[in-house]
Amino acid sequence: MKLIKTIAEMQQFSKSASRNGKKVGVVPTMGYLHSGHMSLIDHARKLADVVIVTIFVNPTQFGPNEDLDKYPRDFERDWKSCEQHGVAAVFAPAPEEMYFPDRSTWVVEEKLSQGLCGQSRPTHFRGVTTVVAKLFNATLPDVAVFGQKDAQQAMVIKRMTRDLNFPVEIVVAPIVREADGLAMSSRNKYLSLDERIRALSISASLSDAEARIKAEGRKALGGIAEKIAEKIAASGGKVDYVEVRDADNLEPASESTSCLLIAVAAYFGVTRLIDNILINLN
Ligand code: AMP
Repeated sequence: MKLIKTIAEMQQFSKSASRNGKKVGVVPTMGYLHSGHMSLIDHARKLADVVIVTIFVNPTQFGPNEDLDKYPRDFERDWKSCEQHGVAAVFAPAPEEMYFPDRSTWVVEEKLSQGLCGQSRPTHFRGVTTVVAKLFNATLPDVAVFGQKDAQQAMVIKRMTRDLNFPVEIVVAPIVREADGLAMSSRNKYLSLDERIRALSISASLSDAEARIKAEGRKALGGIAEKIAEKIAASGGKVDYVEVRDADNLEPASESTSCLLIAVAAYFGVTRLIDNILINLN
């Protein structure tokens, strides 16, 4: 497995793989890899001959009062995990390699990035779209795999890829959960044991909502967001949002919605967690 730190070397590596007839896949991450990330890597290995994992804690997607400085890092462990999962190259650039001090260009998606996480993190998605565009230009992939865990992010990236004609197929892989239901996240490390137990109310309330909608159909939708928010608040969480949206376009759910996305963000202590569920209504 190759460690690549510069954009020039990354492009050369990828071009040479393509010239040799290999399909190139990329899995962009911020490191501190867990089984959720590894499932994306395994997925990418099925779709591509050569899989690149990018490990870059992207400063531009963090707000001024967010956790950039204390974001968890463990490169040694990440390296071993990538090796065990058949990754061909890890692209781990320094921030100075990715961003010129006098940079003045952003990639901005203006519709799907509004609301949900875009509401409380107003500069987050332009950081994500900008870095993903740059990572695509560095790794030159045929296919890129993202997680449904960040549902809005996956939709924003799909839209950016379409609108800017990146020649990259975007694949979204399902959420990987702990045995008790908590969606895996690098940020789970911040939770105290007590917060970790309380935070189970997020996945539990989403599963309850799914069961109710499956049993009662669309009439269960009235008040469903409020019920989820109540359960999370009752377990000590501070709800940022609970949104019931159309999974195809992120519009508020309506009569014509065939697949629902129920998305949640909530704080337990100082840790902001997100989770979501897709529910087919047909
Ligand atoms: P991150 O390192 O948190 O930026 O995440 C990198 C990629 O892994 C993103 O596409 C995430 O959606 C995905 N991911 C993170 N957690 C999970 C999870 N629990 N299940 C599936 N994918 C995940």
